Amino acid sequence: MPIKNIDDAILKDISVEEGVEVEFLKRGIMHGRIILPMNVKRNRVKPIAIGEGLRTKVNVNIGTSGSVSDIDMEVEKARVAAIYGADTVMDLSTGGNIDEIRRSLIEASRPLPFGTVPVYQAWIEGVKKYGSAGIPSDWFISTVEQHLRDGVDFMTIHAGISKELAKKAIKSMRIMPIVSRGGSMIAVWMLENNEENPYLQHWDYLIELFKEYNAVISLGDALRPGTVVDAFDALQIEELVNNAKLARDAVSKGVQVMIEGPGHMTLEKIAADVKLMKSLSGRVPYYVLGPLVTDIAVGYDHIAAAIGAAVAAANGADIICYLTPSEHLSLPNVEQVKEGLIAAKIAAHAGDLIKLGERAVKRDIDMSLARARLDWNTQIALSFDREKARSIKTQFGETERSCSMCGQYCVFILLEKYLGKREGVKLDDILARVLKGVTL
Ligand code: SF4
Repeated sequence: MPIKNIDDAILKDISVEEGVEVEFLKRGIMHGRIILPMNVKRNRVKPIAIGEGLRTKVNVNIGTSGSVSDIDMEVEKARVAAIYGADTVMDLSTGGNIDEIRRSLIEASRPLPFGTVPVYQAWIEGVKKYGSAGIPSDWFISTVEQHLRDGVDFMTIHAGISKELAKKAIKSMRIMPIVSRGGSMIAVWMLENNEENPYLQHWDYLIELFKEYNAVISLGDALRPGTVVDAFDALQIEELVNNAKLARDAVSKGVQVMIEGPGHMTLEKIAADVKLMKSLSGRVPYYVLGPLVTDIAVGYDHIAAAIGAAVAAANGADIICYLTPSEHLSLPNVEQVKEGLIAAKIAAHAGDLIKLGERAVKRDIDMSLARARLDWNTQIALSFDREKARSIKTQFGETERSCSMCGQYCVFILLEKYLGKREGVKLDDILARVLKGVTL
């Protein structure tokens, strides 16, 4: 079983939360289709199961940049992520004291599982130390070890881009050959030093490390397309094939793994992308970045990503990496983190209504009943963003039992007054109807 120190009480709690049997979880974990990012070094991590047959999870990226390095703001982003329902948090810091920032954000994100992209720190500090890209290959691995010792639960490892693939990418007809920051660092390192990917060179040792710490390898997609017109090309597929082979190897050696993808991609390709990834990898969890279904939603990229993420989740993607309105423009501020997270939560739930069916629909039915009853408190309590819902509800004052859209001509008031409709409709009756598949 590719996980250790997992006691039955944890599995029992997850099974209740997810509405599945403990045996289902055990089987999924055994075959690498379900993962639990829980570094053995960390206490009080909320066990989050990610994978097949489970609720779609949402990750929030935070962290400093080379231009904006405000640790208090990043800590506040972690706090907001936890309040608004993120399942995991990743630190993508590239500015300031990266070790110190990571440790502060691990604390601020408790109890959520915490991820990093160690190549950023390895590259930034390696170039400083060695004065150029001539960094020794084991430097990249020592950074991974440091993150594991600090308790990081999952890490993006860009092992799928080989030296040959990096050469092909640079010579390709793509508009943007590489748009992954970590991927570009690894590609430059390989081409400058004429060496194979450091994560591939040291793959067996990485496997030992992740096994020892019970952490998750998240295989990065260095060659994800950065525009819809580059999507699903040979570069993307070749990297996916490499990542799938590595994922199968990790699972066979008892290491938890997921695969990242697919970047910018038009809607009709998303289902095929998820199915191809699952089929090649033996159905390990798919961690989707976007997919951004158009390139022109600047300022609203969280919406472009949520549209793609909903389709990906409906087709089997397991965890969504949120995007914020500041994507492609700036480091996000705290409010933009919240907006991006809520968009991703909506996308995940929309996907789950298809993927999980009646296991996901209860909240929708509760909301609809409250709507039909003009029960505003329940509607607001069930919303993803209660503050926003309440503020919009009261923006023109609150004089009506209905809302200011139709006022006294509210359909529910008319139905109730003249026809006595909705009397006696009960949640249990509706759930029973849904379970039976009766629609009228
Ligand atoms: S007033 Fe109109 S919009 Fe508002 S609850 Fe009634 S029907 Fe819906």
